[in-house]
Amino acid sequence: MNKNPLTLKIIVFGFLALQYSFIAKAQDTTKYLAKNDTKNQNNMSTMNKFEFKPLPYSYDALEPSIDKQTVEIHYSKHHKAYFDNFMIAIKGTAMESMDIMDIIRNISKYPMAVRNNGGGYFNHTFYWEGMKAHGGGVPTGKLSEAVTKTFSSFDEFKKQFSDAGKTRFGSGWAWLCLDPKGTLFICSTPNQDNPLMDIAEKKGIPLLTMDVWEHAYYLKYQNKRADYIDAFWNVVNWEEVARRYETALKSLKIK
Ligand code: MN
Repeated sequence: MNKNPLTLKIIVFGFLALQYSFIAKAQDTTKYLAKNDTKNQNNMSTMNKFEFKPLPYSYDALEPSIDKQTVEIHYSKHHKAYFDNFMIAIKGTAMESMDIMDIIRNISKYPMAVRNNGGGYFNHTFYWEGMKAHGGGVPTGKLSEAVTKTFSSFDEFKKQFSDAGKTRFGSGWAWLCLDPKGTLFICSTPNQDNPLMDIAEKKGIPLLTMDVWEHAYYLKYQNKRADYIDAFWNVVNWEEVARRYETALKSLKIK
């Protein structure tokens, strides 16, 4: 007979709990936005806060080398999912108040969800910023000298970097990096790993990256990864790579 009042109490309690959880979530979001608003929004390349940065150009800017639909899906679906899942993976942990670089550099301490999604979040931002409309050409200045010194010629560098992308089995990334002694090297990483991670085969400071996951090229190039790699050279932002090189040298206290 008194079953009904009990059911009513359960319903009311459930409703109140749900309301409370909505309010708590809204407050979390407000706090997150407020925290990020106070930081420098213009420093596009430091990755010192958790922010899904706007793409630095329009979806069609890399045409015809990388088509509009690929860039749109890659950025707004794939990259966004890594970011969202990274935010979920760090929620309620000490990582929430850490720098993305500190998390990446000590990635072996954290769960696989952080490695995969934090890596995906970082790597894609780095990839987008390393390209531009009407890019390509050759590196200039100090970077040009370093490339020639290390790889004997720019063409030989391109060949080795392209090969790193072509021979990466399954999904991953090709990288140009600076080692701790200030020497350039090329490597590739599987999945969403990168050379900053403490688990990397060879660690270094990344200067340029190329995504060789199928989602980076399949719509236009299907199985022809090599054609995508050839086209990648037309959109490299060498000014940005040169800037990263200078910054990396300074961080190593070289010149
Ligand atoms: Mn990707």
